[in-house]
Amino acid sequence: MDETIRMHRPGEKVPVSGIYECTCGEGHRFTITSTNVQGHSFPPVPENCSGIGWNLMIPARVERSP
Ligand SMILES: [Zn+2]
Repeated sequence: MDETIRMHRPGEKVPVSGIYECTCGEGHRFTITSTNVQGHSFPPVPENCSGIGWNLMIPARVERSP
């Protein structure tokens, strides 16, 4: 697999808002749309999930401040 994809483990701080998918491949998702992700951390994977973390699937659009 491509190891350049950065995986985020539960409890790590969320770097950017967007839609994250777990590593088990069954499509469990974690969505964070807040524009201010500071103070947010990744949740544990679902109980029936064999994954170990979250990958960023779709970054949320961020408005550029002038
Ligand atoms: Zn999963």
